[in-house]
Amino acid sequence: MVNVLVTGGAGYIGSHACKALRDAGLVPVTFDNLETGWSDAVKFGPFVRGDLTDRAALDAAFAEFEPVAVMHFAALSQVGESMQDPGRYWRNNVVGSLTLIEAAVAAGCLDFVFSSTCATYGDQDNVVLDENSAQHPINAYGASKRAIEDILRDFEAACGLRHVIFRYFNVAGADPDGEVGEFHQPETHLIPLMLDAIAGKRAALTVFGTDYDTPDGTCIRDYVHVCDLVDAHVLGLKWLQDGKGSRVFNLGTGSGFSVREVIDHSRAVTNQSVPYVDGARRPGDCTKLVSGSTRAEAELGWTPTRSTLETMIKDAWRWHQTGHYNA
Ligand code: UDP
Repeated sequence: MVNVLVTGGAGYIGSHACKALRDAGLVPVTFDNLETGWSDAVKFGPFVRGDLTDRAALDAAFAEFEPVAVMHFAALSQVGESMQDPGRYWRNNVVGSLTLIEAAVAAGCLDFVFSSTCATYGDQDNVVLDENSAQHPINAYGASKRAIEDILRDFEAACGLRHVIFRYFNVAGADPDGEVGEFHQPETHLIPLMLDAIAGKRAALTVFGTDYDTPDGTCIRDYVHVCDLVDAHVLGLKWLQDGKGSRVFNLGTGSGFSVREVIDHSRAVTNQSVPYVDGARRPGDCTKLVSGSTRAEAELGWTPTRSTLETMIKDAWRWHQTGHYNA
């Protein structure tokens, strides 16, 4: 049995990663405090309930399961909230990650896959980003993730911690088998909020800002299917285990969609009207975040197969109608 410690394995992306690891013949050991995750989502391996700032709990998990690697998803990830409560983001994301990294090094577990974000780039004048683009985050969430990237580099230099950093663009969709899906409480992300509004589960969606410097005035994002995203993580793990060394990969599709375009696609996929109102900008939002995936495709052999907007919305809609966790 080859174990991989998956922090945040009870969350949206982490639970899909656990399934992909299980399908790859590995055992995902979820370490999660259930602050934003769901025990119902832990279906593919053992579960340790614990907090990343609890070094003793981490040491016990490393000792019990002897994982060959860490996949680190656990984090607070809401841009808007990070602007209102930055201390919580720095403490949870940075102190938690630092504690995890120190525990991994102490246990001799030196392969580390980290979920970072395109929010580390900040606003960049409408360019398509690549891994060498400058990182100037404009919100506390992005800043906290960039800081963790720096910590990983320092621990590589000092202790030989090998890492693959994935900078995600906007993750969407759900497991096509319906075993896991996206479920945040409260929900803040565009596609699930829109599906809620379509289904009459909440009031109209508010479009955050219609005066951005984009063709239709709304923000542009690069959406990637969660299943494609976690496939890249399995490839990233293999990359490290093959001894290929630390590397950063952007995970996007190179196609940007505005909020209005996502609304239009959702209307087409669900064949229902989308109740929405135009509203003010949300603090911390970048105008446009789009990346190619040239490096991940060329070096990891990553081939996204489900990352069209139609498929992502279709999979999210199916999960929205049939799947749920017990709140
Ligand atoms: N958005 C919006 N209304 C909402 C939620 C999001 O207009 O209720 C917009 C948001 O301003 C951004 C895009 O949708 O341009 C994606 O936001 P989300 O929160 O899903 O992801 P983020 O880009 O912040 O990681």
